[in-house]
Amino acid sequence: MDWPNRAPFAAAITFDMDADSLIHAADPEGWKRPYAISMGQYGPTVGVPRILETYRRLGLRQTFFIPGWCVKTYPKAVEAILKDGHEIGCHGWIHENPSARSLAEQAEDLDRALDAIAAFSGYRPRGYRAPVYLLTNDTPALLADRGFAYDSSMMADDEPYALDLGGRSLIEIPTHWGIDDWPPFAHYAEIGYMMPVRGPSEGLAPFFEEFEAARRDGGLWHAVWHPFLTGRRARWQVVERWLETALTSGAWFATLGEIADHAEGLRQAGQLRTLPFPTYTQRQT
Ligand SMILES: [Zn+2]
Repeated sequence: MDWPNRAPFAAAITFDMDADSLIHAADPEGWKRPYAISMGQYGPTVGVPRILETYRRLGLRQTFFIPGWCVKTYPKAVEAILKDGHEIGCHGWIHENPSARSLAEQAEDLDRALDAIAAFSGYRPRGYRAPVYLLTNDTPALLADRGFAYDSSMMADDEPYALDLGGRSLIEIPTHWGIDDWPPFAHYAEIGYMMPVRGPSEGLAPFFEEFEAARRDGGLWHAVWHPFLTGRRARWQVVERWLETALTSGAWFATLGEIADHAEGLRQAGQLRTLPFPTYTQRQT
């Protein structure tokens, strides 16, 4: 894929600042679970300031996906992210599962999240990532109706592509579980995740292998991390050391919004892969 200024490949770190939204969305009794709540709270209160400090030192601007409820609950972290010029993407209202919501409820969740961000800062997100990637066949149209430029919840390619919504389109910046820090680092029994937690270097090694693969292919490397997981001290120190080298690789480090704008330019020039959405319109038997 071609990148701006003849960069040999592209790179983006995205952080999903879920904080403790997960426990409230998953369990009506979640508010009574102080340990689980505190684990999530580490994200906005300790992880985000640490990450921002590194980004300031290295001159990086990146993307943070944040549920609307977290904007309301952790305004200081959001203010700091915006003050440093990072992008904020929408990540649902309270990390609800969109596929368990009706169409009207999905629209309501999206609008509630957008309103919370707008009320806080006047900021209008251009990107969306579905909580746990659980977008529905209705999600892209709901996003296009609201003027979103891109989604980052699907897994059909390594590189950005376009979703053809029948006369409209949306850029997809794909993800996959191999570039998500949940499998190596999350152990969250309260919401049903019982994972063997990896050591910092072991858990992060696959991300760095992915980076080398993107470099070889001239493609996009993209990480989906969480401030309460990869933002923890020992893991972030490994990332920091790696980043200092990665920044000398020639990669175009950009926000997902910038990558989506570049992809949209390619789409308009007929140079971007386009997939129909939804892939199926009826039950397959
Ligand atoms: Zn999330």
